[in-house]
Amino acid sequence: MGSLDSNTPTDHAAGQFNPLDPEEFRRQAHQMVDFIADYYRKIETYPVLSQVQPAYLHSQLPHTPPYRPEPMDAIMKDVQSQIIPGITHWLSPNFFGFFPATVSTAAFLGEMLCTCFNSVGFNWLASPASTELEMVVMDWLAHALKLPSSFMFSGTGGGVIQNTTSEAVLVTLVAARDRALGVHGIDFLSKLAVYASDQTHSTFSKACRIAGINPANIRSLPTSVEGGFALSPAVFQSAVEEDLAAGLIPLYLCTTVGTTSTTAVDPIGALADVARDYGVWVHVDCAYGGSACICPEFRHHLNGVDLVDSVSLSPHKWLLSYLDCCCLWVKQPGSLVRALNTNPEYLKNKPSESSSVVDFKDWQVGTGRRFKSLRLWLVMRSYGVANLQSHIRSDVRMARMFERLVRSDPRFEVTVPRLFSLVCFRFVPKRARGPGQIERANRRLLDWVNGTGRAFMTHTVAGGKFMLRFAVGATLTEERHVLAAWKLIKEGADGLEERS
Ligand SMILES: *Cc1c(COP(=O)(O)O)cnc(C)c1O
Repeated sequence: MGSLDSNTPTDHAAGQFNPLDPEEFRRQAHQMVDFIADYYRKIETYPVLSQVQPAYLHSQLPHTPPYRPEPMDAIMKDVQSQIIPGITHWLSPNFFGFFPATVSTAAFLGEMLCTCFNSVGFNWLASPASTELEMVVMDWLAHALKLPSSFMFSGTGGGVIQNTTSEAVLVTLVAARDRALGVHGIDFLSKLAVYASDQTHSTFSKACRIAGINPANIRSLPTSVEGGFALSPAVFQSAVEEDLAAGLIPLYLCTTVGTTSTTAVDPIGALADVARDYGVWVHVDCAYGGSACICPEFRHHLNGVDLVDSVSLSPHKWLLSYLDCCCLWVKQPGSLVRALNTNPEYLKNKPSESSSVVDFKDWQVGTGRRFKSLRLWLVMRSYGVANLQSHIRSDVRMARMFERLVRSDPRFEVTVPRLFSLVCFRFVPKRARGPGQIERANRRLLDWVNGTGRAFMTHTVAGGKFMLRFAVGATLTEERHVLAAWKLIKEGADGLEERS
């Protein structure tokens, strides 16, 4: 077969077109690996935050697909000149926004294998290794986190890889909903009430709407600066009591270990103690903070996890595994399966009918699923828990250093105690009068820093206070990048003070 570009449409019609010629694959994939390695090597030369304007790409690309094949060289030229300028470089060592999305060679290789097999493991038979490796890897990570055996396949529970936290919350909410409706009857759907703090990720209320929870019964419970933005068990209990008195059925509590805004930690043990008295399902969302709990010095944040019903953690944030990978453990897989199972004729098979296997399609929203456990398996085997712990500790060390730098400059203040590798802080210009002026100065500082392309960070508002978020932990970040970012922030502050 000739090179792709010499193929004519007639060739294709004649059946000579081979979209997966092994030798062609070898040649092009090697080139692509070189491109990727070069991209990682020179990633610092790009502005971290993409500087393009909306719809920038529309005017540069044709509006219809090519009829004739194009050579890979031409496509890659466009990647360089048209796609890369529109990328916000999450893997840049100068990326300090949101939470980092960390990666590794091991996970990339695992992803290559996953894509290579393209097995669609909806049930055990469809790809036994896909299901069984996922079970092993979920138990491994549960061990690393010291989760009780009630969450492991080797115990009485089990885990599954979802795409994102949104799905983990949705499927557990639906399991809890159907369990409750099984007791009370379907007519009680509008009476179900759910709880979370006002710091809970916005995906929770979205999941509630999708699951048909009455919007009037979604409680966003207040937190405070003094309480470290954690949900108070007393506040939770009085909300539950109030709802019971109003004839509602308390259903589900979504707690968080490491909130997105400021990394606050809810006291999950004390909350679960209250929840147990009312039969409320307790979920722990530790998308980001959970990864730190593989280190003994952080594990206390999960104290009380033995009392909850489900836990989700996204290794695509802080455990080097590329998007997307959200691990969900449940104590009662049966409640998930009862809510989500399907049994069409075309998927029926002996192992499933004998109930001797796990069919992960019954643990998730969709049917098709990728062989994602390969990424986590390669990460855990290639690095060992020891190196994963060092990776967490090194990020925390750099965040601590940044925190010290902020404290060393009287024009700045740390606004929330640092727990993990996120530092929340703000600029308090000498001449600023009132919260409005301070907020405006911080917005200007943020825009200035991000506009330089030399570093990127984001902001939040907590307790009514506008603050900057400096999230350390992009995989390529070293101390020198943190120091350079701090210098840049101070330069921005100097400029603002001169102009004011
Ligand atoms: C990032 C984050 C989410 C959303 O996570 P995805 O798994 O990426 O969808 C949910 N909850 C918390 C606490 C988060 O930090």
